[in-house]
Amino acid sequence: MKSAYCVPVLMYHHVSPTAGMITTSPRNFERQIAGYAKDGYRSLTAEEFAGFLAGKPVPEKSILITFDDGYLDNWVYAHPVLKKYGMHAVLFLVTGIIGEGPVRPINGEAVPLPEIVEHKQSKVLVAAGNTDPVMLRWSEVHAMREAGTFEFHSHTHTHTRWDLTTPDRDECLRLMRKELADSRATLEEKLGSVSDHFCWPQGYFADDYIELARQAGFKYLHTTLAHGQNLKGGDPACIYRFAVRNRGYAWLWQRTHLAAHPVIGPLYNRWKSWKKSMRKKV
Ligand SMILES: [Zn+2]
Repeated sequence: MKSAYCVPVLMYHHVSPTAGMITTSPRNFERQIAGYAKDGYRSLTAEEFAGFLAGKPVPEKSILITFDDGYLDNWVYAHPVLKKYGMHAVLFLVTGIIGEGPVRPINGEAVPLPEIVEHKQSKVLVAAGNTDPVMLRWSEVHAMREAGTFEFHSHTHTHTRWDLTTPDRDECLRLMRKELADSRATLEEKLGSVSDHFCWPQGYFADDYIELARQAGFKYLHTTLAHGQNLKGGDPACIYRFAVRNRGYAWLWQRTHLAAHPVIGPLYNRWKSWKKSMRKKV
């Protein structure tokens, strides 16, 4: 078996018929997942991905599918599609805003589905403490875990950007340390275990944050940096992920190939980084 040279990591947030920011429609999501399945792609577990970074071989057509935050629509719309095609995703939960109560209906069941609010509106509801119509419940987390469609990791406890709210850096680090501890404790309590994979809220991190995450027991740090390659022997503290657009499989196939290509991939990433730096100068 030829092992993958690079494993592209995909980043999703919402899969919902309610159009909005960082949202993929259920139709496009199914086209994307069905396309990967048909092409023989393997969606890795976080553990398999960690093994790859450490040098273990994985199938040549490997990807890691990640979701951030833990929205209700992941259960209602993404979970049934992953199940249908035998694909697997990794979800970074904001552990402090996951609710209680029974599982809600999912797409494909002959009952009215929960109404999914659009991203900006969902932020307003969460900020007001009205999280249940927006976020997953623990019962749904358990059901997805048992079905093998999703596995769950930490995305902090409250998703607060302490670096923006707390000018004193020592105080900021103290609050962030508590975030990490609370999130770990919640995952331990609700799921019986916690992994060493972690995802930064809004992609923000700095050297002292990395040190903090390491001290808290996290080794694999998932960023929102898109323009780099996850290679065998690569740095687990800097996992590159690209945002999946609300497009069909043809776009995603092309983007996956660009991400993984040994020659064109680095050229593309350099070009995109250069473009970004030019935009900053303007
Ligand atoms: Zn997030």
